[in-house]
Amino acid sequence: MDIEKDDESSQRESAEELVAVAERLFAAGVMSHSGHANLSARLSGDRFLLTPGFVTGLRADQVAVVGMDGRAVGGPMVSASTEIVNMHGVVYRARPDVGAVLHTHSPAATAFAVAHRPLPCRTETMLRFGQAEEVPVVPWGPRGSEVSVRGIAELLDACPTTSAALLANHGLLVFGADPRQAADLLIAIEESAEAELAARVLGGAVDFPAGALEAVRASMARAAS
Ligand SMILES: [Zn+2]
Repeated sequence: MDIEKDDESSQRESAEELVAVAERLFAAGVMSHSGHANLSARLSGDRFLLTPGFVTGLRADQVAVVGMDGRAVGGPMVSASTEIVNMHGVVYRARPDVGAVLHTHSPAATAFAVAHRPLPCRTETMLRFGQAEEVPVVPWGPRGSEVSVRGIAELLDACPTTSAALLANHGLLVFGADPRQAADLLIAIEESAEAELAARVLGGAVDFPAGALEAVRASMARAAS
């Protein structure tokens, strides 16, 4: 019984964390006009928490518990969620270290997704928040469809160290150890996409010099010690 109780309170805590992350994404200005997003957090036992497809004014009691196989295990399950379960589940299955998956239509990142252009890593923010390589593009398939999910699985296989993917003609998928870390990276990616686009009128963004990642890591390690 105690274990079940623990499970319930940690689920509640994770749901509250997703609510806080939704608020943070709005406050950071990285949401699209519609407020569309779906956010998830891994639970024990091949399950995860999943928000509905629109997270404006999200409440913890709107967050569902779903199995990796797409089964609803508890809480509300709106029809939009059943379509997106696999988009999140495929990341958890491929990456045991991932604890949270966030999907948004962040406008500048989505511009790269609709142009089928990978987003290069050319800002220090992106480097620091864990994406030291370009954000690759997953070929289009209807949301949650076998084609789309297979595309994500193949991309994770081909790019084993990426923490984000652009979904062609759709939006952005970011993952990390926990919802807050993933949100930090998502915001860094949207900022980087904005900067990349803005730099085009100035002749285009320029790559880091060789060894930039190592230099940033060394600087972060020095600051932390
Ligand atoms: Zn979407």
